[in-house]
Amino acid sequence: MKNVIVVGAGTMGHSIAEISAQAGYDVSIIDVNDALLEKAKAKIKWSLDKLAEKNRLKEPVKNIFERIKYSTDLKEAARTADLVIEAVSEDEKLKKSIFQQLDNTVSEHCIIATNTSSIPISYLAEGLSKSKNVIGIHFFNPPSLIKLAELIIIDKTDAETVIAAEKFIDSLNMSYIKVEKDVPGFVVNRLNIRIFLQALKLVEQGYSPESIDIVAKERLNFPMGLLELIDFIGLDVLNRVVIELKAHGFDVEESSILKTKVSENKLGMKSGEGFYKYGKNYERIEFSETDIYRVDPLILLATAINEAAWLISNKVADCEVIDKGMKLGMNFPKGLLEYSDEYGLDLVLKTLKELGVKPEKLLENMVKENRLGMSTGEGFYKWNYKKREYTTIIYEKRSSYALITLNRPQKLNALTKDTWTELKEALIEADIDSDIKSILVTGSGKAFCTGDDIAVMASWKNKSDASEFFVHADSFIDQVLKTSKPIIGLINGFAYGGGFEILLLFDIVFIAENAKLSLPELKIGAIPPIAATYGAIKYKKELVKHIFTADIISVKTAKELGIANEIVPGEQLLEAGIETALKISKMPLSAIKAAKKLLNLDKQRYQEILKTGLDELIDISQTDDFKTSMARFLEKKR
Ligand code: NAD
Repeated sequence: MKNVIVVGAGTMGHSIAEISAQAGYDVSIIDVNDALLEKAKAKIKWSLDKLAEKNRLKEPVKNIFERIKYSTDLKEAARTADLVIEAVSEDEKLKKSIFQQLDNTVSEHCIIATNTSSIPISYLAEGLSKSKNVIGIHFFNPPSLIKLAELIIIDKTDAETVIAAEKFIDSLNMSYIKVEKDVPGFVVNRLNIRIFLQALKLVEQGYSPESIDIVAKERLNFPMGLLELIDFIGLDVLNRVVIELKAHGFDVEESSILKTKVSENKLGMKSGEGFYKYGKNYERIEFSETDIYRVDPLILLATAINEAAWLISNKVADCEVIDKGMKLGMNFPKGLLEYSDEYGLDLVLKTLKELGVKPEKLLENMVKENRLGMSTGEGFYKWNYKKREYTTIIYEKRSSYALITLNRPQKLNALTKDTWTELKEALIEADIDSDIKSILVTGSGKAFCTGDDIAVMASWKNKSDASEFFVHADSFIDQVLKTSKPIIGLINGFAYGGGFEILLLFDIVFIAENAKLSLPELKIGAIPPIAATYGAIKYKKELVKHIFTADIISVKTAKELGIANEIVPGEQLLEAGIETALKISKMPLSAIKAAKKLLNLDKQRYQEILKTGLDELIDISQTDDFKTSMARFLEKKR
């Protein structure tokens, strides 16, 4: 392949011509008049000069520039072409007539490609004698930066055409994904539009653009906010794409906010205002929003995941193709279906139902078969997974993090001797597993943990019963203080007494906004040994007040004191934990361990004092006050 023709010298055409010339092809750009061609020429020159300044060209600008010819005569140029890429305005009739002209002019071996975003390629190939040479080569804007093209293979496309198109994209130093069927929006736009429309719907519901974009940036780690990206693309452009794709059979609802803004000439960056306001020069938005938990990221992703399931079920693309497309085409840090596996397909399905969207059969079947993703070892991908069910807790290895769930929901996850021991064993297991970088701890049911089991405490006959119980607690605390990976508490509900106190020793704590915290020990004639020692030193008088009054500790106070990092809506608690664990999983283990060693050093300085706390509790358990208070408490419960 030597001669490449690009028809249409606009936004896409001039850039496709430029990258083709850079790859060594002789290129002809065709447009309808010289003025447009001159414009394209100036843009290409400017771009090549910039690349040369940055030392990004393999040869002098002049050489590349001279390989590009500019003409208004398509027929003449087409005669010697090996590949024609049509990139004229998105107009069915216009494109169809160009395809007809090409069919009559080009040689037998010439590939006839179109860069259309929404017109069915089969429609353009209809009635052509060289329809086997037709293929979609869909570049993204700008082709010089986004190193992905979708190759859309229609029924008539023959194998040689596909191979030639693949070689061409390879030669541009770009990647491609093969879209096996000619569906409107192909793969990337189809998925992307679903995400955009969800973001737009949230704006219509009253969410601020920043509250949505901060989630995309901080939690999904997208390179730009979604509404910021829409401003960049142009609201009119997106609106047009949605309308076109809908007209070609893509089942989407048009966005009313997009329409309104377009009618007010709020087109985004180019008009100075879209969802944000802009000055004269290109600028990125500085977000002032700090609440990253107002919007659930799954609301943004779920309909796109459902769409991906449709693409898979209809054999348009498989999950690797989909994820490659989203990573390279949208600059996602990971594939859409990787996100799905990380959050869990059960949550995706739940979100779809809440949104009133009918889930694809494939998703329903996967959930039925327990293929939920990282949390079961298999979803769209396979994950390293292990589960151990102890008597009072569940330990799961989920690829790069461990999840320990306190699992006596009927007893509000109260702590027994077994729980202390099992928690310790689980911590050790996570600690020695070199795949695991962090440890999440949460509770099942409506409680995180309601502290030491009062029924067990009331059954102590003598000091040695109490001592034996606290040997186990002490040994667990000892393990917490030497665990070499960060421990992240996810406080899903009641955290009372010892259940609250262990949070003080964890490294990171996320707390559900409806969680209930308190230190009720004094009420039952006992003391909170961790809070009254380590807690009082670290969290000062506010905590001390709660020790003596046993008043509820509000989640807000917990955050203000620094006991909790974030207050999170209950339904997003696990998501917040997973996101943090996965961020930590990107860090080298030796650095994690070194940081953790230092954090442990600080805590270990208080180990003796903590022990004194437990001893004091053992002593007090022998008093009449303790025994009668316990008995009264249990009596009340009955
Ligand atoms: P554009 O309007 O910037 O450029 C289209 C060019 O085609 C114009 O210069 C126009 O004069 C020229 N043209 C019109 N009739 C012609 C003819 N008969 N012969 C030769 N040239 C003719 O449009 P664009 O944004 O570059 O889009 C071009 C194609 O690429 C469309 O099919 C579009 O769907 C697709 N596309 C666009 C983008 C994008 O983000 N802009 C991304 C991917 C694909």
